[in-house]
Amino acid sequence: MDIAEWSRKISAGDRRALARAITLVESGRADHRAQAAALLEALAQDGREALRLGLSGTPGVGKSTFIEAFGLMLVEQGLRVAVLAVDPSSARSGGSILGDKTRMERLSRDPRAFIRPSPSQTHLGGVARRTREAVALCEAAGFDVVLIETVGVGQSETVVAELSDVFVLLIAPAGGDELQGVKRGIMEAADLILVNKADGELKDAARRTCADYAGALQLLRKRRHDPEGFPKALCVSALDASGLNEAWAEITALASWRREQGHWKARRAAQARHWFEEEVREALLARLRASGTARARMDRLGEAVAEGRMSPAAAAADVLAAFSAPPVADTSPRKGG
Ligand code: GDP
Repeated sequence: MDIAEWSRKISAGDRRALARAITLVESGRADHRAQAAALLEALAQDGREALRLGLSGTPGVGKSTFIEAFGLMLVEQGLRVAVLAVDPSSARSGGSILGDKTRMERLSRDPRAFIRPSPSQTHLGGVARRTREAVALCEAAGFDVVLIETVGVGQSETVVAELSDVFVLLIAPAGGDELQGVKRGIMEAADLILVNKADGELKDAARRTCADYAGALQLLRKRRHDPEGFPKALCVSALDASGLNEAWAEITALASWRREQGHWKARRAAQARHWFEEEVREALLARLRASGTARARMDRLGEAVAEGRMSPAAAAADVLAAFSAPPVADTSPRKGG
């Protein structure tokens, strides 16, 4: 299929064209990369924008149950919802996002929703790029909300935080030292902490956990550009679908505030810059790794550093001086858009 026709189909919301495009961006083949870049360029002209909603939580906290209930609520409100997973499928106990057939069964059958399983890829840089491009494709296809899910293995939650307009952390009710289990970085990235399973016997524990997190978030508050009261902690039950409306109201309130204050644009601009720099870093490292002489030199210098004959900084400077990148062809930025 040629790029113009392909992008037209995606813009028109053709799900098969979208699914094929996501497969394309997942490929590492050079010709596929070039095609993907052309397709993304063509689609960027549309300037469509979804709410990118990041969601992180450890296995068993109820992410699938939450996404199913939350996604169904959103589609009932007339919104189109896409769900993408960031984690390499091997990181999931149950295999890929849809490997377990019961995962988001109703939502995956709904024509207003689009669920994409994570590919079996383990390299984080690859996962980040693939997800970023898949998000762009879903936006171009006209989805209103793109939900980006991660179990938060390794650094994947940082990837998701760097991709989302609003970032939500899902946690389970638990005993007193639960707060210790959440990494500081993830707490700082969270706009909303949802304590799930606030139902039945767990209701009281959920309320206590919610109060603990609300207290912890208060300490983080002063350092951020956020409206009054954010970041917040709320109780929800994905099972009973309770608190979901309230959670959505908080998310949209925050999103509107960020748009009005210009933080939305600034955040996306900073993210774009971050990903640009990541791409450059990745490409330079790949180039170094691909060169036999560079590798040999790095091995030699690595020894010298390990034995204390050279400082890490001096050794790195040596490598870079010997292998400074050849001149790069000039490509002008895209016009308009
Ligand atoms: P994930 O690994 O984060 O995707 O978690 P799942 O959605 O697969 O849920 C893990 C377990 O928690 C399942 O047995 C769910 O039925 C249960 N669960 C999920 N949400 C709730 C909830 O709101 N309340 C209760 N009581 N159980 C829940």
